[in-house]
Amino acid sequence: MRKLLFESLIRLPVTEPAPAPDDAALAELGEALGLAARRRLGRSLAIREVDAGSCNGCELEIHALNNAYYDIERFGLRFVASPRHADVLLVTGPVTKNMREALERTHVATPDPKWVVAVGDCAVDGGCFASSYAVVGSVAAVIPVDLRIPGCPPAPIAMLKGLLALLEPDTRRAVQRPAAAG
Ligand code: SF4
Repeated sequence: MRKLLFESLIRLPVTEPAPAPDDAALAELGEALGLAARRRLGRSLAIREVDAGSCNGCELEIHALNNAYYDIERFGLRFVASPRHADVLLVTGPVTKNMREALERTHVATPDPKWVVAVGDCAVDGGCFASSYAVVGSVAAVIPVDLRIPGCPPAPIAMLKGLLALLEPDTRRAVQRPAAAG
């Protein structure tokens, strides 16, 4: 036990290095997104995250948007607790059979105008869970999807670029890859 304690004091944590900071690009992207939201909505963008069956890898990247490094609230973008207050549903994971109805009801509860973003390969086309007996399919197989952000998982910057593309449709083609079958 003493040996373990001693080793924990001298060993570095087993973790990946932090992403290379690109503060200027992040600030530019965040400000553009905040401005686009105010132009389209007259206020800041409200986002509701929905886990429809993810492995939680995509959630870790989504959580990073709120950490001290990305801190997207400084650009006027915020996560909300209820779909009734949301403009955007960020949906992760393949849609499992158990989550299908919850996703449909969340979509209905979100007021118009609203956008749905499928985040991650599983949300886009079922990803590595596509053939599972417990999975219905992609998000688009259950509710209409406005934008797909591929990646396993996609990086926070890719999500910010995706949200900007959502609000500024001229940039959308640069983010979205061809729609996959549900
Ligand atoms: S895309 Fe990758 S990280 Fe995201 S839910 Fe699927 S397996 Fe997990």
